[in-house]
Amino acid sequence: MEIQKLVVGFVKTNCYLVYENNYGVIIDPGGDCDIILNKIKELNSVNFLYIINTHGHFDHTYCDKSLKESLNSKILIHKKDSFFLNSNSINKIIEPSYNGVEPDILLEDNDFIDVNSFKLKVFHSEGHTPGSIMLITENEIFSGDTIFKNSIGRTDLEYGDSKKMKETIIKILDYFKKDYTIYPGHGDITTLNYEKRNLYHFLDLL
Ligand SMILES: [Zn+2]
Ligand SMILES: [Zn+2]
Repeated sequence: MEIQKLVVGFVKTNCYLVYENNYGVIIDPGGDCDIILNKIKELNSVNFLYIINTHGHFDHTYCDKSLKESLNSKILIHKKDSFFLNSNSINKIIEPSYNGVEPDILLEDNDFIDVNSFKLKVFHSEGHTPGSIMLITENEIFSGDTIFKNSIGRTDLEYGDSKKMKETIIKILDYFKKDYTIYPGHGDITTLNYEKRNLYHFLDLL
């Protein structure tokens, strides 16, 4: 499985192109739509079936509409965050150039996203937003704005919930039994074993 990280938009969101055997997904196309599309065109044999949003904030969803129109990919988001994609949502208020779009598939905890030769498992990680998810492959976690290197996602924005974040951290510490490479929504790549120490620390703070 190949993973390409593109840092996009003015809040420096990590957009990931994940692919294998000519099929792939785009995770969090949150800005610089032309740069993302040009990168995809360089990989011209890869068919990007899905655009997956780890959550609904505009810095993770900004290019959903334009990429869908260019690539005919389906848009996937957790059902509790789909309201962010609405053209009248808070995304439009914060970023007036935001284009709303209809999601194609609403995700739930434990869903599998089938990408030909690999799968992504949906891990609902409510807290940063109600429908935040992490996407799990064999050895990787795409953690969105739930886990960052040395930090976790903020819960003080509208729709954030620190109690739910605490429950999510407990769920993470209980669920994952081996180490994974973590590809977060912002900042540097890290590992789960390294972040576990930080997660225990945040448990006491939330
Ligand atoms: Zn966010
Ligand atoms: Zn973000």
